[in-house]
Amino acid sequence: MSRAIGSPHILGGHVRCGYCGYSMTRRGTWFRGGYYGCGNNQSTGNCRPNTYAIRHLEPAVLEYLFRMVEDKCAFENVQRNLEEDKGRGIEQEISQLEKTIADIPQGAEKVFALYETGRITQDEFSERRAALHEMAESGQRALAQRKKELEKLRGSELGRETFAEALRTLKDRFKTCAIAEQKAVLASIVDHITSKDKTFKVHVRYLAPTE
Ligand SMILES: [Zn+2]
Repeated sequence: MSRAIGSPHILGGHVRCGYCGYSMTRRGTWFRGGYYGCGNNQSTGNCRPNTYAIRHLEPAVLEYLFRMVEDKCAFENVQRNLEEDKGRGIEQEISQLEKTIADIPQGAEKVFALYETGRITQDEFSERRAALHEMAESGQRALAQRKKELEKLRGSELGRETFAEALRTLKDRFKTCAIAEQKAVLASIVDHITSKDKTFKVHVRYLAPTE
């Protein structure tokens, strides 16, 4: 364990005061790792001490994350199955659209043949040809839109997979790897932690509620 790589405390820099949003700073190293307290309170006297002993917070956060490896993955899998269904639906629409677009030249030939053999008038021919043209254009637009939707869906699956993988890495390697690596793995999962009255909330990456 080297101090040159920064604080040996793996949550260092991630904890924010649940009352005011300021960073929590570490104090009282003389007492078994010390505690986090509101940095705003320490420097200005505003807010409140809002302390949390590091020896309690660290294992509690880790246990929360380790539990998430089971629970969240189950949740993620359900979510992924739903999106795979949706993805298959879009794929079907894409192949249908491609087929429709591919058939258009053949349709145009038929219409021309009808006109050539005198079975439709020139006006009808122009109308049908215009309709085919419109079909080709709207087909291309729909196709581009479906492809974009599919790409977006695949992108979100990738994000979740990365997240799940990071969680698995955390659990598998946490006990053996060095502090610096633990911090890096943690930072890939945890955006920040808010703490209030000796309770905490972990805000993870990849699971932004707006997405
Ligand atoms: Zn505060």
